[in-house]
Amino acid sequence: MPAHDAIVIGGGVIGMSTAWQLAQLGAKNVLVLERRRIGEGTTAQSSGILRTHYSVPQNVELARRSWAMFENFAAALDDDEASAGLVRCGYLISAPAGDKLAALQATLSMQEAQGIPLQRLSRADASARLPICRFDDAALIGFEPEAGYADAYLVTTSFARAARRLGVKVLEGTAVQALLREGTRVVGVRTAQADFHAGVVVSAQNIWARELQAWAGLQVPLHAERHTVLALQGPQPYTPQMPVFKDLGSGGMLYGRSYGGTQMLVSEGTAAEVLGHASGDMDDAQIDVQADVSMDQVAHIGAQVAERFPSFETAGLASSWTGVYDVTPDWNPVLGRVPDVPGLVLAFGFSGHGFKLSPAVGRVLAQEALGLATDVSLAPYALTRFAQGRPLVGRYGQGAVS
Ligand SMILES: Cc1cc2nc3c(=O)[nH]c(=O)nc-3n(C[C@H](O)[C@H](O)[C@H](O)COP(=O)(O)OP(=O)(O)OC[C@H]3O[C@@H](n4cnc5c(N)ncnc54)[C@H](O)[C@@H]3O)c2cc1C
Repeated sequence: MPAHDAIVIGGGVIGMSTAWQLAQLGAKNVLVLERRRIGEGTTAQSSGILRTHYSVPQNVELARRSWAMFENFAAALDDDEASAGLVRCGYLISAPAGDKLAALQATLSMQEAQGIPLQRLSRADASARLPICRFDDAALIGFEPEAGYADAYLVTTSFARAARRLGVKVLEGTAVQALLREGTRVVGVRTAQADFHAGVVVSAQNIWARELQAWAGLQVPLHAERHTVLALQGPQPYTPQMPVFKDLGSGGMLYGRSYGGTQMLVSEGTAAEVLGHASGDMDDAQIDVQADVSMDQVAHIGAQVAERFPSFETAGLASSWTGVYDVTPDWNPVLGRVPDVPGLVLAFGFSGHGFKLSPAVGRVLAQEALGLATDVSLAPYALTRFAQGRPLVGRYGQGAVS
């Protein structure tokens, strides 16, 4: 008899959400193994933006279900002290005439058909909501009122606390070194401290899911990308009441939001520096470090910001940091079981947009692990989609809008 109903590898926001959902659904003796500390992986680097704007309908559904939980986070976790740090400021997305316009039009219509509350704003209405931004070239502006941003570390630790209250055990500083197998079936994990047996193992390892290649002979179609995030102090404040923005007209498809009360957090939403591929040349030392942000990068992003936010021409750099995306070939995650490796559930490849999906993803992963019907079909997210030539491609091409 396995000692654990389920083991989760990885204490990021995906792993902790899954662990809590497993316990909620009645799993006994759930164990989370995290080689460092909870939330110290790529979750700690998240910009925290929450939206349902996706061109892939399945992502809209996962984001909508997740938003419902973010909005009522303490009640959902049954913990008065739980907080997502949610700021409900809305999400504004703008496109000039050009190649992104048709994609924005089609995506807004698709979201409406899925029941998402949306508005199409005039340039004047958009300026009223985000007066520091210029909209004179905008051909279409969408506004999603039920959107904003939250704190990924707070969400992860709140999931961890709620999970522990339901009896989940979390071992930090414990690296999984191998999967235990009986034939092809996964029956547990090996660590330096001990072997742990379980009915099912969920890998929520983000970029480190590449270890599954050596452990289980799986192809893991992932590469690591380093993204740069800036916090700018402009002459005019970017207040928390102002919406998150997405500028489809800029070369880097910029996204931004209020930060620290008056600053702008801003980054590019396109593909970035590749640090290596899971199949070969990925270097842990590169992934784990905070890289220097060069003045060239600051100038490159800053020029795009000044184009859209004219007063930010004179903005100062308040801070900067880097973060790593676990990117799949279609910029969408791999979720669910694998036919050749029973007993294993996969969750990797969130491609820079996994935080906003984490509540619903945790739930469907827990359902999948326990052999229950999933709220949202996992078939489109199967690992086999790549070998079968059925990628989950969005209308915006490569990048984290998806
Ligand atoms: C710069 C940046 C900005 C982002 N902005 C947004 C945003 O605005 N909105 C949004 O929705 N998403 C955003 N994301 C993406 C989102 O933050 C991630 O998709 C999400 O946090 C990933 O969570 P995770 O649990 O998969 O990964 P992680 O937090 O990386 O967790 C994986 C954990 O697994 C552990 N682990 C791995 N291997 C082992 C092992 N062998 N044994 C034990 N433990 C192991 C690691 O130590 C790590 O803690 C952003 C990401 C970055 C980098």
